Amino acid sequence: MSARILVVDDIEANVRLLEAKLSAEYYEVLTASDGPTALAMAAAEKPDIVLLDVMMPGMDGFAVCRRLKDDPETRHMPVVLLTALDGRSDRVTGLEAGADDFLTKPIDDVMLFARVRSLTRLKSVIDELREREASGRRMGVIAGAAAARLGGTGGRILIVDDNERQAQRVCSELAIEHRPIVETDPTNALIAAHGPVDLIIVNAAAKGFDGLRFAAQIRSDETTRGLPILAIVDDDERQRLVKALEIGVNDILPRPIDPQELSARVRTQIRRKRYADYLRDNLDQSLELAVTDQLTGLHNRRYMESQLDALVRRAVVGGGDPVALLVIDIDHFKKVNDGFGHAVGDEVLREFAVRLASNVRAIDLPVRFGGEEFVVVMPDTELEHAHRIAERIRLHVAGSPFRVLGGEELLTVTISIGVAASLGEGDDQIKLVRRADEAMYEAKVGGRNRVIAKAA
Ligand code: GH3
Ligand code: MG
Ligand code: MG
Repeated sequence: MSARILVVDDIEANVRLLEAKLSAEYYEVLTASDGPTALAMAAAEKPDIVLLDVMMPGMDGFAVCRRLKDDPETRHMPVVLLTALDGRSDRVTGLEAGADDFLTKPIDDVMLFARVRSLTRLKSVIDELREREASGRRMGVIAGAAAARLGGTGGRILIVDDNERQAQRVCSELAIEHRPIVETDPTNALIAAHGPVDLIIVNAAAKGFDGLRFAAQIRSDETTRGLPILAIVDDDERQRLVKALEIGVNDILPRPIDPQELSARVRTQIRRKRYADYLRDNLDQSLELAVTDQLTGLHNRRYMESQLDALVRRAVVGGGDPVALLVIDIDHFKKVNDGFGHAVGDEVLREFAVRLASNVRAIDLPVRFGGEEFVVVMPDTELEHAHRIAERIRLHVAGSPFRVLGGEELLTVTISIGVAASLGEGDDQIKLVRRADEAMYEAKVGGRNRVIAKAA
């Protein structure tokens, strides 16, 4: 997977060296030699990754990183800080500034590409979610909610490690601001991972099981594959580290474990998980809005049409049981609006929807078709059976008055229902809806408050 990478370093030779290495692997490289230029380029060019030197005159790498992570437009870009060889305290400062990772100078090619590949992959997931959310926003189905300030604390963390002393140390360190639990057995850990978990920390050098195999299992399981994984790897085990990134762990915690680095890396992962969850929730909400009628909470016409076609085709061509359809129209509804106002009309529609939904079966699909017209789609249902259900609904509406205006007013509401069911070959969704609609019209003409079923 290719990516656009912004390289920032005040020393020209360093920039050129990285540029050459990355271009040779077909990455697109942008360059900047100071902090303010880097910020401007990040905002304008939206690179996929920023490789950022720490030591720069004026605004240093930490400050640039902090600014990138403060801005909602650039927050999601992974930032890799380029630090001096023994920069342990630099690493903690960097992580606290929001950096996603580190590379020590002189830069090791294998580590460089392992990190770049892994961060590119993770970012593409976030990008896709951001994209879909943005299009939902354009369609107007997502309210332009200010992206909540997503904290990196309070995470539910599963520590998978059979080295009990190490696991307990990690656990008590994290318990300061998270809710960690320890699992020493990988089989139990896999089960626990199906529960509410925000982050998995696995010891890649566990004695009793293969930590990387465990990580791979988490990645291949449908329900856990999105969980962030932090792997504990010995500082000198370069090969295992590269392997871990290839498998798709999100980050590496080098051993010996530095408590501050531990908590900073965990916070970064939790924050990123929250962001992805936030985008996904927004997306789910937008999908739901797109299929739901706002006033009544029933399905809308668009959703019904997307389902009905396949159902009818299955019944007609596939030789399954028929699909039955009720078309329901409220009688003299205009009088409700005219007599009591539009708001009371809305109340009646909502109350009707409740009565309707509670009188159909779980497999049936109650729909607000538009205005004061409703449809119920009934899969695997004979015409006769649908007729009986329609009669039950009619009685349930006409049988007891609707309370409106907080109970001050009681209104008697009646409905007319047309029933039809799919026929054999040659039938389709349009004809089916038309037959039910004609039956409904006959019910109106016949005096309203009645059910008419149309056999053919
Ligand atoms: P009929 O028995 O022949 O069906 O008479 P009707 O008055 O129910 O039928 P008509 O189609 O003449 O009027 C339907 C009314 O429903 C007109 C429209 O203003 C009203 N209406 C449609 N959608 C809504 C809505 O969302 N809220 C409210 N309050 N009224 C609505
Ligand atoms: Mg009506
Ligand atoms: Mg009408």
